[in-house]
Amino acid sequence: MFWDQESETLTRPTLEQLQLKRLQDTVQRVGQRVPFYRDKFKELGLTHGDIKSLDDMRRLPFTTGADLRTIYPDGMVAVDREEPVRLHTSSGTTGKPKAIFFSRNDVNNSAELIARSLVMTGITRKDVFQNMMSYGLFTGGLVMHYGAEKVGCLVIPAGPGTSERQLLLLQDFKSTAVHILPPSARYFASFLEQKGINPRKDISLRKAFVGAEPHSEETRRRIEQAFDCDVYNSYGLTEMNGPGVAFECEHKAGLHLWEDNFILEIINPATGEPLPEGETGEMVLTTLKREAMPIIRYRTRDITSIITEPCKCGRTHRRLNRITGRSDDMLIIRGTNIFPQQIERVLMSFPQVGRNYVIVIEGLDDMTVKVELSAAGFDGQVEHLAALQTQMVEKLKAETWVKPKVELLAPGALPVAEGKAKRVIDKRSL
Ligand code: AMP
Ligand code: ZN
Repeated sequence: MFWDQESETLTRPTLEQLQLKRLQDTVQRVGQRVPFYRDKFKELGLTHGDIKSLDDMRRLPFTTGADLRTIYPDGMVAVDREEPVRLHTSSGTTGKPKAIFFSRNDVNNSAELIARSLVMTGITRKDVFQNMMSYGLFTGGLVMHYGAEKVGCLVIPAGPGTSERQLLLLQDFKSTAVHILPPSARYFASFLEQKGINPRKDISLRKAFVGAEPHSEETRRRIEQAFDCDVYNSYGLTEMNGPGVAFECEHKAGLHLWEDNFILEIINPATGEPLPEGETGEMVLTTLKREAMPIIRYRTRDITSIITEPCKCGRTHRRLNRITGRSDDMLIIRGTNIFPQQIERVLMSFPQVGRNYVIVIEGLDDMTVKVELSAAGFDGQVEHLAALQTQMVEKLKAETWVKPKVELLAPGALPVAEGKAKRVIDKRSL
């Protein structure tokens, strides 16, 4: 199923031609209207006429999160002050927020991208879409909401309310789709289990869209089981409109990135050099259709790679592999590079593990993984717990090459984050 079949299946040469045309327009506009870019281009002796092919991308300067923070609260706005109609800011999990302005066309276009994304998983106007992400400055609320409305779904702006309330809405309005953060999904799954809810009989869910945070294939599998529905990975970032940047299609085999709206590059984060297609590195994105606040070569810090084979669904927009973490999330412990994602993957492979965990680094690079067990995994038998703990330490060591301590906790022992969870507490840097 397609929302905009023509745009979603453009041949590669046509798509690339369109990208070049939109890039040239964008470069010209920001060079004229955004002092930040005007100055950068001047420094580099660059004019918009220098962008003659997509390879000339490389001559353009990067934009970093630090640049956006420095310019906060103004933003790099390329339109008159009265034009923007909406403001979002990033969640600021890694520092001061970044302000992103949307014009009316930007609001509409971000909804278009969500509509494409939802429809490619099989969502139709018959669906009842319960958005369990927070409404406010975070894009997971409003941007997703407008897109689902555009498809024609009945959209319930539930926000991150209590599990009781979510269940009530799910049952009263027979919601068929939810949009939810990975930890909330795990939490809600254990709530349903405790309540004795049979997902097949007692609720009507068909699809869950899980995103805004890194999560593993194991987490997907768990949520699919607990909700008895299909789970799709949704990727986005405030700087690029929020959700709707890249999304899985019905095949759940990588995330199609909407390349008529964004130019995708994967670079070596240390050198800034582009990497050959298929290699893992940092994703860099350039907006092609953004009116109020175009951004050139944005260093997302997100680590991924491009899937080179075409997708069975027929869409020509290339797919990304699951994001494995952020380059600034990488922990260096005793000289070894570790991503929190690797730890999550191991933890979620244990059925006894519950919804929450935290990684604490302290002293001389000592790593402790504190992990909650699920209600079913906590049988109170000390021997079982000791054996489980040993197994976890061994598996974590095999995955990360660092031997951690593991603390097993009772269900609900760790605090629940309201928005995005903070998974790593690095006391070395305090
Ligand atoms: P924010 O702008 O606050 O919504 O945060 C965006 C960031 O969340 C991205 O740069 C990623 O680091 C992360 N993120 C969003 N969606 C996903 C996803 N599906 N998988 C992994 N990380 C994600
Ligand atoms: Zn596909």
